[in-house]
This record gives sequence, structure tokens and C-alpha cells, in this order.
Amino acid sequence: MMKKIVLYFSALLLSLPLAAREARVAGPDGRLVVTVSDEGGKPAYSVTYDGVTFLEPSPLGLKADIGDFTEGLLLSGFTQNAVADDYSVPTIKFSTVHYRANRGVFRFVKAGGGTEEKVVLELEVQVSANDIAFRYKVPAPDGWTKVCRVLEEATGYVFPEGTTSFLCPQMPPMAGFARTTPSYETAYTADDSLGRNGDGYGYVFPGLFRRGDKGWILLSETGVHGNYCGGRLIGLADGSYRLGFPMEEEFNGNGTVTAGIPVPGYTPWRTITVGTDLKPIAETTVAWDVVEPQYAPSKAYSGSKGSWSWIIKMDDSINFDTQKEYVDFSAAMGWQTVLVDNWWDTRIGREKIEELAAYARTQGVQLCLWYNSNGYWNDAPQGPRDIMDRSITRRREMQWMQSIGIRGVKVDFFGSDKQQTMQLYEDILADANDFGLVVVFHGCTLPRGWERMYPNFASAEAVLASENLHFSQERDDTEAFHACLHPFIRNTVASMDFGGSTLNKVYNATNDPALPGTVRRTSDVFALATAVLFQSPVQHFAMAPNNLTDAPQWAVDFMKDVPTQWDEIRFIDGYPGRYVVLARRSGDKWYTLGINASAETRTVTLDLPAGDYTLYSDMPLSGDKAQRRSRPAFQTGPDSTVASFPSHQESRTHPGGTLTVQMPCNGGFVIVQ
Ligand code: CA
Repeated sequence: MMKKIVLYFSALLLSLPLAAREARVAGPDGRLVVTVSDEGGKPAYSVTYDGVTFLEPSPLGLKADIGDFTEGLLLSGFTQNAVADDYSVPTIKFSTVHYRANRGVFRFVKAGGGTEEKVVLELEVQVSANDIAFRYKVPAPDGWTKVCRVLEEATGYVFPEGTTSFLCPQMPPMAGFARTTPSYETAYTADDSLGRNGDGYGYVFPGLFRRGDKGWILLSETGVHGNYCGGRLIGLADGSYRLGFPMEEEFNGNGTVTAGIPVPGYTPWRTITVGTDLKPIAETTVAWDVVEPQYAPSKAYSGSKGSWSWIIKMDDSINFDTQKEYVDFSAAMGWQTVLVDNWWDTRIGREKIEELAAYARTQGVQLCLWYNSNGYWNDAPQGPRDIMDRSITRRREMQWMQSIGIRGVKVDFFGSDKQQTMQLYEDILADANDFGLVVVFHGCTLPRGWERMYPNFASAEAVLASENLHFSQERDDTEAFHACLHPFIRNTVASMDFGGSTLNKVYNATNDPALPGTVRRTSDVFALATAVLFQSPVQHFAMAPNNLTDAPQWAVDFMKDVPTQWDEIRFIDGYPGRYVVLARRSGDKWYTLGINASAETRTVTLDLPAGDYTLYSDMPLSGDKAQRRSRPAFQTGPDSTVASFPSHQESRTHPGGTLTVQMPCNGGFVIVQ
């Protein structure tokens, strides 16, 4: 049957050699449509939703050592079938996903061949209600070739006039702290015009685009492991974007900037999420819809909450006594872990770590241990080093960890998207699974579908995370702005280990505004809201033991109870970089939250079921006029001034229907019902 279709198209092409062919595949409801064509011999695709163009004809194809498959191609065949997949991944935004899509396979032959031409490139496109995933299949060119080197891709994105961007610039290679970049730790630009290229190195995935008042487009990629390199977006002067490969200098120049695959073989999936509003963007599951588990879990992994001293007290806190204090703190919070950060190998030592792990066990707490990924790719001096880079040393270490009851590892300082680095991530995950260890990556790439591919993968940094709130007052001043971007960009495609929810007013060991330290601009309710907003099944919050006595009791109690794994997400309202309102469900409990980065206080109207609920608010208590007069809802002053909010908790009963809440700048609300 398939052969007949190919022959039919071939015959047609011979009779009409100059006419471009096109074929299309639509989602199950017919609204999202991908059209593939071969105009001028160049494969291209365009995207419409309800007839509105979201991507103009955009280039496809790749150049490989076995041939140039970017031009001189003819679309010779097309087949289509329906795809259905019901799956469960406990660590993503929905515990159960019902994926329904149509899959189109577009086959290209070289122009000018005879009737016997061979398919030289296939394009697979899966279209669901609001998501597109596509990848190339490179067939074997002959009877003996088994491998191919992909030199570059033509894959591009051409946006309609008037589109604006929300992007995170790629970092220069081998720069920053100890030459550890790129590590996806750059400030975003929001509502920016097209035609730029970041700081000259393009942009990291994912990228969000606003198609005027018609809707939104999110670009990302998934299913990348040791089979390919990670991609980035190269911004061109004409306003379009092209998929770029890693930079030569990354990984200290080691490894390739090309991708090696077997033939027949596949590239990773590139994903496009389209919405007339932001709901499909915030709720997308496409990063997991099209990937497969790479191995079975060696045990039942579960999410966890924990503390880590380093975020507030830095390297000086990596000593036995402080870590023991944090074990007691986690125990007091009912949390499962303490993350012992860098330098523990020399500042505490292995024997004392064993003693600490044994003490923690008596308190119902487990340790997670930090490791340097190096290796030979950057100068990060922190120990332990030279363990995680090779299977022999890594497995020996993991066996030791398993023997003393370590829960997981945080591996840091990768700084490359090359195929060799992608293989390293996968190898660390696979080895850790053999020893029942959960894995968190820092100083790393964007996880691309890894929650489903690797059951012990918990989370990754790949964001300008909480450490920057400690390092830079500017980051505190723009904390809310960035927090209002992540649910639509970075955190919607992968778990994000932000390491936040601090209740300290100041980033110093004593939480003393009179001593040096960056000052938090956001409210306590904002801190609670981000514990729900920032999705990560493993959380190490930035709270400190002093918060047991200097933070509001209701805030401490909230942090004891807040789940880290969720069954459902519901986007309610928002605008990237300005404000966000959404709800997450855990069991039969709904956490509805909002945070606000815009200057004015924002009123939010919610439609909630009748019943009792708990409100965490930064506004004056209802009816408390005296308080409203005496305590402004938000105040910010010179750098030494700590923001003041009338934050509180109240229990209420909702009669049903709409409910109005307000959130000040740098504040928010949470409703638990
Ligand atoms: Ca970092």
C-alpha cells in the first residue's frame, strides 16, 4: 500500500516536474495544521491554528556527510495514522496524560532521479490539539553504510510580521565562573523584537513568542540523549530563527559540534506548542508525549522536600556541626532530606559523612550529596571532583552512597550541549538507577523529556536560580519578573530546581539587615506561592533553621505541608514577566496561587467551588482599615530597606461562584482548598 502511494506521487512528479507538492497533517480536532511542501526543491513547513498563520513557510532538512538533504528534494510520499498513548509520570505536571495525535510521515527523494528514486529523507510530524513534534529519519543510503554524521540542520522558524519574543540568551562558551558556561543561567528579555541574536551566541530552548493578539508559540526540543547534541536558536537579521548546534569551544574544545547517528536513524524531536491564549503553553506535556522510558526503575522513586545550608550560609556552612543542625531542621519541618553542597569531601570527609548519614537516619532524614561533574571540561575547583566523569569511579562511589543510605546526588558544572555531554548525563542517570539514587543536575543543559526517559531523574537547574538572589541585588530586584516567566517557558517543559522559597529577609547567616547581604524584595506569601509554582518533584528550599523562630508560624506550617508532586495543573491567568495565576492539584487538594511582578496591585477573579479554604494574602486583613492605613501593601526603598507586607493567613468559607483576591507588586496569594 505504502509503495503504491510513493509510486503514485513519483508518476505525478514526472509529469509535473516544476509544480511544488504539499501535504498536511492536522491535530485530532482539525484546528492545528502543519503543511509540508517542496517549493523550489527546498523542504519547508508552515503552521496554522484555526486558519491563522503561526509559522510562515520555514526551512527543513539537514546536511550530512552522506549527502545534502536541504535542497533539490521532492516530496514523493505521505502517509498518516493516529497515535494514542495513555501514560503516567509522577514527576511532571499531570500524573496521567492522555496523548492523542495524528502522525504524518513525509518522504523526500532527490530531484532529477528516475522512477526508481530512493527516499533520502523522511519527516515525521505528530500533531495533537495544541502541540507539534517533528523529527527527521535518515534512511541508509545504500546496502553497507551504517553511520552518518549530521553536520548542520536547515530546520528553522519564520514568524509572521509583528511577532515578539521572550528569550534567554545562550551564554558564551568557556566563560563565567571557572569557565563553566554555557549553563542556561542568563536573564531573559521579554516582549523583545525579532532580528536579534542574544549576546551573539543565540538563545537556549525553550523560546516563547507572541503572535500579536492572535496567540502564543513555544519552541523547544525533546528526546535528546547520547544520540545527538542539544540544539539552540540562532536569531537571524531577517527576524527568523535557525536551529544551531553547540559551539566549538564548549567542553574545553573536546567533543564534536556535529551529531553522529546510525542509519537508518533519527534526530531528536523538535516541538512547537501553539495557543490562542497561554493555557496550552503552561499546560503542555509535549516534552514527554513523544519520548520513551530508557530503562525500568530499580526501585519506586518518590519526590522529597529538604533543606540546604549553602544557599544562605555558603561554603563556610559545609561542616559537620552546621549540617547536623540542618538535619535537625529538616526533621523539625517533617522534610525528608538535607543537601550537603560542595567541598564536603574535604570540609567534612567521608568518615564524618557516614556518621552524619547515620545520625540523619535516626531523625528520619536522608542526605543528598553534591558532586563536580569534571572531568576535563572546566576549571570548577569544588570537590568531590574526578568521580562522576567515569563509569568506574562513579559506580564505586554510588555503591558507597547506597551502602550508607544516601538518597540522591546533585551533579554540577557541565557547561556543554555537545553529544558527548548528553551521553554523560545519560550515563550518570543510568548508573545512579543501578544504585537507587535520585539525580539532580546543576550548571547544566535543559532536560529534554528526561522525566519520562529516566525514572530517577528528578530535576535540573538550567535557570538563573536562587544562588543569584544571594549573589546580586539586581536579581532580587527582578526576582518577580523572572518568576512570572518560568511557568510559560523554562519550567513548562521540564522540572526546574530553583532552590528558593526563602523566608529570610536578608541573604546572610543571621538574617540581620544590619549586616551585609542582598535584600529580598518579595513577600513571604510570594515565597510560599513559588513553592507551588516552581514545579520540581525534589525540592531543596532556601529556608534556614532561624526561620523556625523568626518567620511567621503560618508560613512555616505551609512549607511543612506543601506537596512536591502534583496530579494536575490548571492555568488561570497571566502574562509572561508580569503576573501569573494557576492552580495545582495534589490528591483532592487544590493549591491556587498568584504572583505579581507589575508595579500596580492586581485584582484576580477566581471561580472556586463552595467550601472552606485557607487564604495566604499580602493584603491587609479584610475589614482592618486601621492596618490598611498604617501599613502600606508594598514598600521598597534603598537597598538596605527590607520590603514590608501585611502578609497573613486567614480561614474562610466560600459560598460558591466567583471570589476576588488582590496581589501587590512583588507579592501574591495562595488559596488551599
Ligand atoms: Ca548554578
